[in-house]
Amino acid sequence: MENKIATPSATKKILREHNLSLKKSLGQNFLVDSNIIDIITSASAIDGDEFIIEIGPGIGSLTQAVLEKLTSGKLLAVEKDAAMVEVLKDIFAEEKKLTLLNQDALKINWKEIAAEYNSENRKIKLIANLPYYVTTPIIMGVLESEIELEQLVFMVQKEVGERICAGPETKKFGSLSVAVQYHMQPEIVHQVPSSVFIPQPDVDSVIVSLSPYAENIYQEEIVNKEFFFQIVKSIFQQRRKTLRNSLSKSAVINLDRDLVTKALEDEGIGLKKRGEKLSIFEMISISNRIYKMTK
Ligand code: SAM
Repeated sequence: MENKIATPSATKKILREHNLSLKKSLGQNFLVDSNIIDIITSASAIDGDEFIIEIGPGIGSLTQAVLEKLTSGKLLAVEKDAAMVEVLKDIFAEEKKLTLLNQDALKINWKEIAAEYNSENRKIKLIANLPYYVTTPIIMGVLESEIELEQLVFMVQKEVGERICAGPETKKFGSLSVAVQYHMQPEIVHQVPSSVFIPQPDVDSVIVSLSPYAENIYQEEIVNKEFFFQIVKSIFQQRRKTLRNSLSKSAVINLDRDLVTKALEDEGIGLKKRGEKLSIFEMISISNRIYKMTK
């Protein structure tokens, strides 16, 4: 069905009719291209019966597309701007599948939200086109909440999307790549030019999809999660240094240089190797070994 919101003229009309001025502080750049919206909903593979969380619905261009795909499922849209929520109430007044929540997604307890609004235990999917400066903390907040997620599809600044998906031995591989990949498998689904937004942002975007692993071996292997992420942070805080130096001179954890040397030798890792060249499995293995040595 034709998207009645995602065109430049329809978006301008809605903004005018509701006397809305866009808030730069909330990153209000609206999608006005139905092809991009189709790509987001296709990547979400909506079967119709899910519990979908949309963060930052704005005036509802994605919201409309998701609602069209839902049959028995439900959509919970979380929007921080009360003025936008009023517009959404108006546009979707008849829509029984939609619940609107006027809240800051950064402050939400997702476990409580899932328990309250998804009591029927539908598969949970998340969809979002958010201001770029809050996308990473919001997505990490959802991942860390440990609600069981079937799929996440979100728009993000190109640079951030590339960092999320990066692998070892690349410049973009870093703490964010490991933090996301620890939970789910990321993939860049589509490159998005800034011309599909009103107003146009200064940067290009990508659509990122996160899917669950068939079996999350990372989570199974790690002996102590907190310690593992301290090791990861130490490695990438001083990514130009050798692994031995970045671990023994870390500002995050206090590790004895001899202990680090012994751990690396036992792992069969050259002392001059840089941490950024390690795979996530190698980081897990070193972290587990050092953790056990310090206990
Ligand atoms: N999804 C719409 C679209 O694609 O056209 C709007 C996207 S606009 C980039 C981001 C939306 O997120 C805005 O409506 C903004 O008010 C909302 N937003 C910003 N910060 C938020 C937060 N912390 N929690 C929930 N919504 C937020």
